[in-house]
Amino acid sequence: MKIAVFGTGYVGLVTALGFAKFGHSVYGIDRDEEKIKALNSGKVPFFEPGLDELLLEVQGKGLVKFSTDGKEAVEDSEVIFICVGTPPLEDGRADLSQVEDVARFIAENMKEYKVIVEKSTVPVKTSYWIKRIMNLYREKDVGFDVVSNPEFLREGSALEDFLYPERIVVGVESRKAREKMEELYRDFDAPILYTDVETAEIIKHASNSFLAMKISFINMVADLCEKVGADVEMVAKGMGLDSRIGQKFLKAGVGFGGSCFPKDLRAFYRIAEDEGVDFSLLKEVEKINELRPVKFVEKMKNVLWNLKGKRIGILGLSFKPNTDDVREAPSLKIIKLLKKEGAEIFAYDPVASENARKVMPELNCLSSPYEIAEGANAIALITEWDEFRGLDWKKIKDNMETPLIFDGRNFLEGRKLASLGFEYYPVGRKPFGRMNG
Ligand code: NAD
Repeated sequence: MKIAVFGTGYVGLVTALGFAKFGHSVYGIDRDEEKIKALNSGKVPFFEPGLDELLLEVQGKGLVKFSTDGKEAVEDSEVIFICVGTPPLEDGRADLSQVEDVARFIAENMKEYKVIVEKSTVPVKTSYWIKRIMNLYREKDVGFDVVSNPEFLREGSALEDFLYPERIVVGVESRKAREKMEELYRDFDAPILYTDVETAEIIKHASNSFLAMKISFINMVADLCEKVGADVEMVAKGMGLDSRIGQKFLKAGVGFGGSCFPKDLRAFYRIAEDEGVDFSLLKEVEKINELRPVKFVEKMKNVLWNLKGKRIGILGLSFKPNTDDVREAPSLKIIKLLKKEGAEIFAYDPVASENARKVMPELNCLSSPYEIAEGANAIALITEWDEFRGLDWKKIKDNMETPLIFDGRNFLEGRKLASLGFEYYPVGRKPFGRMNG
């Protein structure tokens, strides 16, 4: 099939390359010239495992074309995916202007029937507005359908998630559009749930909000565990063995970040509010999450006494491992709070330093974990990159001024670190190796 994908960010590029891998002929369109230039020279403009190789593979087979001009893509494609950004407005509602721009562009350039697919995460009823824009700008006799096909990929494992999804959700209103979507997903080995469009739109927001709620829930349990000397990891295990609850997303720590959960949660309760539904449960989920970095820094202060002039090493900047994305990353919030207290910060991340410096130009990013340990009063692990487990912790301890570790993800082995002489402070569990009190 001939497909066009508008937006070649995390979702759009994975969608474009993923469909090309299945043999479809794909146009990738982006208004960002730098991105298109990079893609045309065989370079993925961000870090995501597996994408570099796949780009070269499908480019070699001539299955993908990138351009800033979407005219030919619209004319030539049967199915057009909208994968542009839907960032939050000041009040938390989704800014849908990029979606509107693309809808209008398609309407103005299509000469025959098209299936237009919302893959960006959008509030319910966005399809109504896309249809409205299409009707205002298209030539009268050109037909189209709007389909909702939300994307559930996770950065860091985006390609795997796209190629082998747990489910595919397709909200569709006409038989013709459904047949196109069936053909498109024919080779995917996953259950496909066909629904009406509004239902599909809600599935995405409801899923992300539910996962965010699980995280905030376990984080509050962690606070209680800390107070009474219980172990949140074991509580989560004990809860998660109940198949109605499940083990996943019961991980206590410094909270969720990224470009999706915080924004989707807010957009979901805002759209509910606009429809007269008070979903304040989700506001609480958000509030709990916003306090995680604050509580983490308070804990550091309780142990270090004064933060002023203390040298703190930060391990991990990306909002989660295996990505260079720092949007809404807890690391940056924690660094800001520590700096406000007068601490001196040195950070290390395997791939996200450059992006972090774009939003925090004065940040001292060093090129190894051993360097950030040099003379440090404490190390705070914020992102659970696998490589942090395998570090030479003895060497790190020898480099530090005072051997304190705050593990914001309960990722390291406290007992082992304590045996090396560290004081180790996890989240929602007892500290190890505390020297007094
Ligand atoms: P992104 O910011 O990485 O990419 C969006 C791209 O759209 C940018 O490259 C931008 O230049 C381009 N763009 C904007 N307006 C355009 C236009 N008029 N024409 C062509 N290109 C245009 O965003 P992303 O992370 O890929 O997310 C895209 C959407 O998918 C969002 O709605 C997001 O919520 C959703 N989503 C993201 C993820 C994720 O993990 N990143 C997962 C699932 C869903």
